[in-house]
Amino acid sequence: MGMRFIKKICNAWHGFASKLNVVPKSNKEIDRMALKANIDRVYSAALVIAPFHFIIAVVYALKGSLPTPIENLWKMRIAWANFFIFVGSVVAWFIASYMRKHEYTRQQMTMFQHVVLTFVIFGGIVITHIDLLLFSSVTALMISLIVVGAFFYLRPRVALAFFTEVLVLFTISVLLVGLPRNVLVSNLTNGIVAIAIGMTLSVISWRGFAVQYVQTKKILEQQRELEQMAYRDPLTGLPNRRFLDEVIKKEIALIKRGTRNSCVVMIDIDDFKEVNDTYGHPVGDEVLKQLAQLLLENIRESDTLARLGGEEFVILLSDTNCDGAYIVANKLREQIKNHVFKVDGYVVQITASFGVGPLLTSDQGPNYYSLVDKALYKAKSSGKNQIAAARDLFQ
Ligand code: GH3
Ligand code: MG
Ligand code: MG
Repeated sequence: MGMRFIKKICNAWHGFASKLNVVPKSNKEIDRMALKANIDRVYSAALVIAPFHFIIAVVYALKGSLPTPIENLWKMRIAWANFFIFVGSVVAWFIASYMRKHEYTRQQMTMFQHVVLTFVIFGGIVITHIDLLLFSSVTALMISLIVVGAFFYLRPRVALAFFTEVLVLFTISVLLVGLPRNVLVSNLTNGIVAIAIGMTLSVISWRGFAVQYVQTKKILEQQRELEQMAYRDPLTGLPNRRFLDEVIKKEIALIKRGTRNSCVVMIDIDDFKEVNDTYGHPVGDEVLKQLAQLLLENIRESDTLARLGGEEFVILLSDTNCDGAYIVANKLREQIKNHVFKVDGYVVQITASFGVGPLLTSDQGPNYYSLVDKALYKAKSSGKNQIAAARDLFQ
């Protein structure tokens, strides 16, 4: 009977909590972020709290003698409790500041978080009991519950477990003291209300954190997608003209500082219109995609390959002189000529023409690729499937 009742409550809670868990139950990333945020909060809050507790401890300890022995006992205990909270806060601050700088596993962070939360609640319960020497009030417990509920991000099911623990501890401790019946009932009800308020605050705070996390993640994903759209060619996945322009700008700055020499290779497929006319546009598209891969496989990671448009590609060979660039272009020309593109059962073979030249800085020429473009034109007019270097233009 009892077990069934508990099960029912657990199920009802589970349904309620899953509505509040706006993120999937097993999202390790958000748990880790929440743990890190909690450690950050321990780090900043401990340093603010510690001096207050120290001052309270000193003020109470130095306060003159009170009229009755029980009041003096209360005074000294409050002073000691505040002193221990001061020491605990300083220790927590040191551990938190160390944990922020180093990588820790989730279990280690969870353990630290649990110790801090227990310490906070334990402090609240202890001071509540000291206060019971003189008056009936659960203010200290209330404050510690608000601290846990509002300042720490706890997944609702973790919060439920924690606050249940607090409820049990508080009830047992109040029952053990042997208070008069009416004081006992009043303390218990106030304590339970305080725990319920703490739990509600905790859920609200978690929900805010989770919603913010989900939204931030979505915004970042959209940003990445937009960047992809702005800087990538959708057909081949290669960087586009806009991306290349940015890279070239940086490269030109380096060339102007005299730190390097860079070259540009411009590629144009020969008679590509015929491929489209013979096999259809979709086959032409697939050839362009496969060619992009072929080119990527044959250049260095430090080089930038971009699709300029249509069947034209550009490679920026960083820190490479034009003799080197010519060798690369010739290797690529051979690779393209010998490659068999297999698309939809068709076998397509192509050749390409190349223009090779130095990357012009804006003071030297009107456009960074104007020279290679002219060279490419020369390669085409000299019979295609060949390379023309910019310096050949002046011969
Ligand atoms: P050339 O040897 O003089 O370069 O001849 P070409 O036919 O390659 O050059 P032209 O500039 O006359 O035509 C380029 C062709 O490339 C025309 C167009 O059908 C094709 N093309 C451009 N962009 C794409 C594309 O995205 N997909 C496909 N399938 N074809 C494209
Ligand atoms: Mg063309
Ligand atoms: Mg062409």
